[in-house]
Amino acid sequence: MATTTTELEALLMQRSLTDPELQAAADKAPDFRILPDATVIKIGGQSVIDRGRSAVYPLIDEIVAARKAHQLLIGTGAGTRARHLYSIAAELNLPAGVLSQLGASVADQNAAMLGQLLAKHGISQVSGAGLSAVPLYLAEVNAVIFSGMPPYGLWTPTAPEGVIPPYRTDAGCFLVAEQFGCKAMIYVKDENGLYDANPKTAKDATFIPKISVDEMKARGLHDSILEFPMLDLLKAARHIDQVQVVNGLVPGNLTRALNGEHVGTIITAR
Ligand code: ADP
Ligand code: MG
Repeated sequence: MATTTTELEALLMQRSLTDPELQAAADKAPDFRILPDATVIKIGGQSVIDRGRSAVYPLIDEIVAARKAHQLLIGTGAGTRARHLYSIAAELNLPAGVLSQLGASVADQNAAMLGQLLAKHGISQVSGAGLSAVPLYLAEVNAVIFSGMPPYGLWTPTAPEGVIPPYRTDAGCFLVAEQFGCKAMIYVKDENGLYDANPKTAKDATFIPKISVDEMKARGLHDSILEFPMLDLLKAARHIDQVQVVNGLVPGNLTRALNGEHVGTIITAR
């Protein structure tokens, strides 16, 4: 049964904004997806862009071909340059909010480079994924590039320990997909997906094609291929109920994932 605006307004005037009855009433409207046909892809910073031409050029070709059939919101990671900045800033005792701004500047650099590479195909970089021009770009050329760091900046929610900003580009890209109610969220990285141990250091690691957030936590894999707060963001999401991690160094993988094929690892909210 739908709550009327008047009933909701009455509750809003009288109750705390986190009152359970008020929240239930505010939740009655059917979910609305702003960009239901778009897929967000995150191009890894350290895992992909930092590898330079050998990794980036083939992906550019794949993106240009894929956007004929798919609406793409292309977010960028930060990577090694951000890690370098974090190490200097942390040693200087600067806070997470400052590190977040520094990390964002590196994701911006990566978005700027992808923007130049895709310019001749009519694909532009926007300076904020939330900007109102995004739907227009999608309607005209089926794709747009954005910088993946969430714009918390100085207001970044801090982690219980340390000064590394907990919500970085994995989270930033995911939140864009979730807020816009997008079709899918695909992480393009440099491994085939999730393993039971880091494949860079454990050569006998076993590949995991599909796993839930709870299983990942139970197996101690919460801090592995995705930023760890991502798992809780995925669990709490209303639109995006799974994410896919694919190896972008293997040509064709991204296209197959966009076509709905199960490549890499699928991480499900439930
Ligand atoms: P991005 O470039 O998108 O920031 P990251 O480099 O942060 O990506 O994350 C991908 C990396 O996570 C992989 O290259 C891999 O070395 C590492 N990793 C750690 N644990 C695991 C695991 N259990 N399975 C797969 N990859 C893992
Ligand atoms: Mg990372």
